Amino acid sequence: MQHSPLILASGSAIRASIMKRHGLDFRIIKPGVDESEIKEKAEREGGDLEATAMQLAEAKCLAVAKAHGDFVVGSDQIMEFEGRAFDKPRDMTEAGERLLAMQGKTHSLINATVLARGGEIIWRNLERPRLTVRAMTAGEIDDYLARVGPEVLSSVGAYQVETPEGAALFERISGDWFAVQGLAIYPLLEKLRKEGALGERWVNPAPVQAGVIGMPAAHSLSPFIHNEWASRCHVVGEYRAIEVAPGYDAFAAAMDKLRADGFAGVNVTIPHKENALSYADKLSDAAKEIGAANMLTFSEEGVVADNSDARGFHDGLMQAIDKNSNLDKALVLGAGGAARGVIAGLRLAGCQSILIANRTREKAERLANEFGLNVTDWEERSAALCDCNLLVNTTSLGMSGQAPLDIDLSALPAGAIVYDIVYTPLETPLIKASIARGHRTINGLEMLMHQAAPGFRQWFGKRPFPVFPRVDDDLRDLLISELKKRGTL
Ligand code: NAP
Repeated sequence: MQHSPLILASGSAIRASIMKRHGLDFRIIKPGVDESEIKEKAEREGGDLEATAMQLAEAKCLAVAKAHGDFVVGSDQIMEFEGRAFDKPRDMTEAGERLLAMQGKTHSLINATVLARGGEIIWRNLERPRLTVRAMTAGEIDDYLARVGPEVLSSVGAYQVETPEGAALFERISGDWFAVQGLAIYPLLEKLRKEGALGERWVNPAPVQAGVIGMPAAHSLSPFIHNEWASRCHVVGEYRAIEVAPGYDAFAAAMDKLRADGFAGVNVTIPHKENALSYADKLSDAAKEIGAANMLTFSEEGVVADNSDARGFHDGLMQAIDKNSNLDKALVLGAGGAARGVIAGLRLAGCQSILIANRTREKAERLANEFGLNVTDWEERSAALCDCNLLVNTTSLGMSGQAPLDIDLSALPAGAIVYDIVYTPLETPLIKASIARGHRTINGLEMLMHQAAPGFRQWFGKRPFPVFPRVDDDLRDLLISELKKRGTL
């Protein structure tokens, strides 16, 4: 059996995972170097931290490379904060203290990577990404640590920036994203390529193809969201709006063709949501619970239907409100396709009591039976607001070309939140009236942006993202300027 020519001289799971997910074929040999000896010597001699990180990477690499003539990768990372180096926190108390000291301030992760060939170091690379932890209270830090648990103790900074919880700790990150995680993979790949060490073992990824299927579909903002994230994440691929005529046969033929063309998956919108369920081989738990699908993922094992509306509604709500907001009681207007995802999203947000009102009462009752909710008459919607913390409009009223939602907000308690999932226009008459009464409002763009994230991660995330695909002001601004251009703001 031929041995792999590449060795990773490190026991770090994250370094191995970064190399693996970039298509490298390698063996792991742990170097067994006493790092404390090198660190203490460097400290005694007043050596700077960049030099120390490089010495550690070289020592680990050479400890393995001397015994193996192959290509050997060694790497080390040191966290530098206010002129000092830090080791991994010993326990959760120290992790909390460290985050508290770092909040509102900037630190660096010094990352040294070296490559040896035939027992000699032939390449050295140093990265120094800078990370600014956002200002946080001790309570927020405790919440974060309780959510993520002792896993954070494996990182010098007491965070795992590649997870959504970890990413949320930061105000700004600049520098090489993979160096932040522990290994600057792209400079290493470039060096390996030049050395002819990749051969056929490293194959360039095929461009990712995904899209949204509907009729009409050309107006969809989803391509803007996915293509923006793909560009930010340096993923080669494209997300397109694809129009498919109504009817199951047309839908199934279009899906067969996209699968044959190598599409990773699609979002599905009106009028194909039910067709998506029929076409799938398997339903995710969310699609089963909600009874509808807006995502199909294609894989060799078959087609999986999923629903990201609940997650999108929920994440949009959570990003917009104070975490102590009271969400005990919600009034949901409408009982169509979107209402299902909204109700499941409210459940995720811990909403205890959901009241539903719909023009066609039987449809509200059907949903109420399925999800265990209460129903009130459509005519009673204004009176039903009296003890609500949250009003959600899921009807199409207020959309361009539709009548405004007719509702008297005077009974709505002062602190209540108003969430209108309609996004054309962004400021519906309901949102305008709510702002005028001083309510916190959330427009439909929030759900739209957040519901795109699961599909993006699923289809474009075969390789690790160099930056986390966030819903942020840059994305909002991009969509708002597109809506302005279309005159539908
Ligand atoms: P749908 O299945 O057709 O449901 C439409 C709902 O609106 C039904 O409850 C319907 O009541 C009600 N409605 C329509 N005209 C009405 C009227 N004149 N008076 C009272 N009620 C009326 O549509 P959907 O898929 O749920 O979408 C609804 C809205 O949500 C659309 O504006 C859509 O663009 C928006 N949406 C936004 C997002 C997002 O990400 N922001 C996601 C999905 C949907 P009946 O049952 O009585 O007909």
